[in-house]
Amino acid sequence: MRILLVEDDLQLAAQVGDALEEAGHVVEKADNGQDALYLGTEETFEAVVLDLGLPVLDGLTVLNQWRAAGRDMPVLILTARDNWHEKVAGIDAGADDYLTKPFHMEELLARLRALIRRAHGHASAEIRCGPLVLDTRARRISLEGRSLSLTSHEYRLLAYLMHHPDEVLSRQELTEHLYAQDFERDSNTIEVFVARLRKKLPADMIETVRGLGYCLRSPGAAAP
Ligand code: CA
Repeated sequence: MRILLVEDDLQLAAQVGDALEEAGHVVEKADNGQDALYLGTEETFEAVVLDLGLPVLDGLTVLNQWRAAGRDMPVLILTARDNWHEKVAGIDAGADDYLTKPFHMEELLARLRALIRRAHGHASAEIRCGPLVLDTRARRISLEGRSLSLTSHEYRLLAYLMHHPDEVLSRQELTEHLYAQDFERDSNTIEVFVARLRKKLPADMIETVRGLGYCLRSPGAAAP
């Protein structure tokens, strides 16, 4: 999942960024409100971790402007200790959850998992799509009860498809969610990963939609 991390404390940003990457996320960072506003408005993220005390433009203003522009990705705000009115203001501005500094990295990861699941209408840690089950805690995908052996890129791609079943996803969108850096992005690699995944999945589960992208069919759902 592609996460936007907005934090001007660079040491903390590095720690959180590493933890998110270890958890299998692709992380884009911003260290001021202006860059955050731009990224969150122009690009798509599965979730945002937003510090409120930021240079140039404060986090609350950024969040307000995202919501005013119709950007509805889940946002977890980071607030200073004992600053309860900041939490209230953050939730009023459209934050989905908050964490008070200092926090345990495990708690941040757990809250993000929950936010991403809820954003997709899943109440539990497991996401099902036909014979496939994604365990978001263990970062494991099984097919008819047997754990699939996947590389980290294959896992990210299939997990993203499972979060968006029966939706046509463009190569560009998939590439953005697989790689953090522009220079790593080459939409041809998506075709390679899709081909590898197809060998591990039931036939026709990943459909190529000509000129548009790919679609993971959840059996039982009607083709659009
Ligand atoms: Ca700060």
